[in-house]
Amino acid sequence: MGGRMTALSVQDVSYSYGAKQALRDVSFTLTPGRFTALLGPNGAGKSTLFALLTRLFVTGQGQITVAGHDISRQPRAALSQIGVVFQQPTLDLDMSVQRNMSYFAALHGLSGRDARARIDAALDRLNMRERASEKVRALNGGHRRRMEIARALLHDPKVLLLDEPTVGLDTASRHAITDHVHTLTETGLTVLWATHLVDEIRPADDVVVLHRGQVLAHDRAETIAGGAELVDAFMAMTAEPEGTPA
Ligand code: ADP
Repeated sequence: MGGRMTALSVQDVSYSYGAKQALRDVSFTLTPGRFTALLGPNGAGKSTLFALLTRLFVTGQGQITVAGHDISRQPRAALSQIGVVFQQPTLDLDMSVQRNMSYFAALHGLSGRDARARIDAALDRLNMRERASEKVRALNGGHRRRMEIARALLHDPKVLLLDEPTVGLDTASRHAITDHVHTLTETGLTVLWATHLVDEIRPADDVVVLHRGQVLAHDRAETIAGGAELVDAFMAMTAEPEGTPA
C-alpha cells in the first residue's frame, strides 16, 4: 500500500470446529481511518473471525496483521494496537465507573498519572466525569456500552473491533452508539463493526459481506447496494433456499 501502514489485514484465513468449517479463505484489508462493517447473518463466521483477530483462537490458517505486525509472530505488538468490545458486556457491575476504567488501564500496563489523565479524558468525552464514582449497575445499557468503548480506547489503539455491540440495546441507544463509533473514525481510528443489522451501516461505510464463512463482497455500502437499498442487496446475496442446513 505505497508504504502506508495497513491497519488490519486478513489473508487467506480459514478455521474449522472439527469437521465444521466456519471460515474459508477469508481475505480483506481495512482502509485506515474508516468504518468497515463486517456484515453477515447469524452463523456467517463473524464471532469466529473476531476470536482469531483477538487471539482467543490461535489455531487457524492464514495470516492476520495489525499495524504491520503479524498476530502469530508478534502477538504483543499486534494486540497493543487493538481495542475490543465483545458482544457480551464485560463490565463489573459492582465496581465504580472509575475503577472499571483503571482496572482495564492497568491490564494494558497503564498506571499512575498517565492512566488517570487518559481516564479523565475518556470520561469527559462521554460527559460522565461527574458519574465516575457511581457503580456501573446504576448506568443504563447505552451508557455501559459507551463506557466499554471508552475503556477499549484507553491504550490508544489504531483499530477498534466491535462484535455486534448493539445487542440488547433499545433503538435510541443503538442509534447513539452507532453514531458515536462513526464519529470516532474522524480521529483516524480504524473500526471493524460486526453486525447482521443493515440499518447500522451508512452509504459511505465500507462493508465486508461474510456468508457461510466466505467473503462475498468488500466495497462501499452504496456500491454494494447498487442504487437500491443495501438490505435488499444483502438479502439477495445471502438468501438460502428453504430447508438448507446452517
Ligand atoms: P456468527 O458470529 O456470524 O453468528 P459464528 O462465528 O458464531 O458466526 O459461527 C460460524 C459457524 O461456526 C456457524 O455455522 C456455527 O454454527 C459454527 N460454530 C461456532 N462455534 C462453534 C463451536 N464451538 N463448535 C462447532 N461449531 C461452531
